[in-house]
Amino acid sequence: MITANRHRAQPASDAVRPSWQQLWRDAVTDPAELLALVGLADRAADLLPARDTGFPLRVPRGFVARMRHGDPNDPLLRQVLPLAAELDAAPGFALDAVGDMAARSAHGVLQKYHGRALLIATGSCAINCRYCFRRHFPYADETAAANRWQAAIAALAADPGVDEAILSGGDPLSLSNAKLAEFLTAVAGMPHIRRVRLHTRLPVVLPERIDAGLADLLAALPQRVAVVLHANHANELDAGVADACRRLRDAGATLLNQSVLLAGINDDEAALAALSERLFDCGVLPYYLHQLDRVQGAAHFEVDDTVALALVEALRNRLPGYLVPKLVREIAGAPAKTPL
Ligand SMILES: *Cc1c(COP(=O)(O)O)cnc(C)c1O
Ligand code: SF4
Repeated sequence: MITANRHRAQPASDAVRPSWQQLWRDAVTDPAELLALVGLADRAADLLPARDTGFPLRVPRGFVARMRHGDPNDPLLRQVLPLAAELDAAPGFALDAVGDMAARSAHGVLQKYHGRALLIATGSCAINCRYCFRRHFPYADETAAANRWQAAIAALAADPGVDEAILSGGDPLSLSNAKLAEFLTAVAGMPHIRRVRLHTRLPVVLPERIDAGLADLLAALPQRVAVVLHANHANELDAGVADACRRLRDAGATLLNQSVLLAGINDDEAALAALSERLFDCGVLPYYLHQLDRVQGAAHFEVDDTVALALVEALRNRLPGYLVPKLVREIAGAPAKTPL
């Protein structure tokens, strides 16, 4: 039985440090406040959209602290700040860009690829990324963690063809350790599951989430664990993130990263090379570089395929092969992520 360890002695300083749940709740949600925090209060009128975009701002304060002061083009700010450009109509940019609604099986389980079952564990995220398909799917009901994971666990247990369970979302690490333990305990008893994977941006945007209880849960699993992070720029990976990565590696996890290629944020060779190198400093290997899902409101982030291919070619000529991510696009109905 794997249990969330609530009784482990905490270092004395933890008593005064806010919990990750408090830090989560204390996130910045007011665009005017965000601009003031980064020294851009006087730019609100020309930067912010004239009407509601339907996808609120949300960003933890620790992530804001990594933004450059006074720079409206800061690559971290651009990932979270609602812009007027989101309201522009763009042909081909749709609500369900990756066909997830069609692939959805019962109760938050997506089975699109051979051997892998992906669970929409929860719809929650600590941060709202402007380019995310999630801006159109709050996933109110159909999440796997609802009803104590019963349907998802039953689906996994009944299918010996699945050898990898992937917790995704939203962000699965927005669930409590106790809630995660319910699922991981069930998976620990399934001999046909060889790997457990987590897709999470929390180690990057709220590294305090990687606490001792979570490390204990992962370390106790009989299966190998992969944690796929999501960072798009080297500036996201400060010392706190490096510490969170170390805690995950100490728990036995293999760390990978997926990024999205984003115009004005990481669409240049130096930025992508710096990201790969900084990831490796943190013990993380680059995995995927995604071409943007064509979701409504994100057209201004799109990078042309020929530019994307040239960027990856430049990385290949400059970095060790293991630091070059695979450039892929998600195509609805395809049996795998499709390389460009
Ligand atoms: C991306 C994705 C996966 C994982 O694909 P990998 O290529 O193994 O990283 C699994 N299931 C679904 C539904 C996905 O969208
Ligand atoms: S953390 Fe991931 S799922 Fe959540 S909004 Fe950002 S990109 Fe989307």
